[in-house]
Amino acid sequence: MGASALITGASRGIGRAVARELARQGWPVCVNYLERRDAAESLAEEIRSQGGRAMIYQADVADGQAVARMAEAARETLGPVELVVNNAGVAGQALFQDISDEMWNRYLAVNLGGARNTIRAALPHMISEKRGCIVNISSIWGLRGASCETAYACTKAAIIALTRSLALELAPSGIRVNCVAPGVIDTDMVQVLGRDTLRDLAEQTPLGRLGTPEDIAYAVAFLASDKASFITGQVLGADGGFIV
Ligand code: NAP
Repeated sequence: MGASALITGASRGIGRAVARELARQGWPVCVNYLERRDAAESLAEEIRSQGGRAMIYQADVADGQAVARMAEAARETLGPVELVVNNAGVAGQALFQDISDEMWNRYLAVNLGGARNTIRAALPHMISEKRGCIVNISSIWGLRGASCETAYACTKAAIIALTRSLALELAPSGIRVNCVAPGVIDTDMVQVLGRDTLRDLAEQTPLGRLGTPEDIAYAVAFLASDKASFITGQVLGADGGFIV
């Protein structure tokens, strides 16, 4: 059996577009979701109807044991996981003093701990085969900082440190680790900001628009491809020029 790709948070938004694009490029994909089984299943059906291979798997990425079971299920059904895309994430706004312990810990557990859990689950196979690829999803806010989004920005900055550190540690094993830092992307996650703020953010973006999930999917697919075989430890901005 060939190798498979595991995409966390692939039922909606960026992860959904990533899974669709990777499937289009021939990867059997494990579509992870938290709650929206309907959305995950519709994507898997769409991929299968186009001749691809896909399975869905419910797991909270913050739960290490559940993630280990997911990687094992992907291996049994599709083949060993040789591409991990750490996309699942949570975001929200609060003044720093209003961030509860619960919110702080949950953001860290999902956005950073989730990446640790999936990588840990996939690594033994990757190391023994001396091949594999990890693409993490950070954010412009992890590079620049974001008022009223300190908890989120900290997790996204940590994703960059995770990417660079692991790239160094895993390079001798032939495993590449990169990350994409999206700008403001038009998904469910940002709708809470409201139409006026989203219009302002589009205006602040040099290319004059919000990004689409596909804009990020193409960047991820490039980093996952053999065309990027000499690229590791990098942060690829896909942000319409927001951070230059
Ligand atoms: P989204 O539209 O809110 O979708 C979130 C996805 O993650 C959903 O598929 C959701 O599953 C899943 N998810 C959430 N918590 C999870 C958990 N604990 N375990 C497993 N899956 C979980 O988000 P998005 O905008 O596509 O963002 C995707 C990633 O890009 C995130 O890491 C986000 O921080 C990053 N990002 C987004 C933007 C942006 O402007 N949108 C910018 C920079 C970076 P269910 O459908 O089951 O709920």
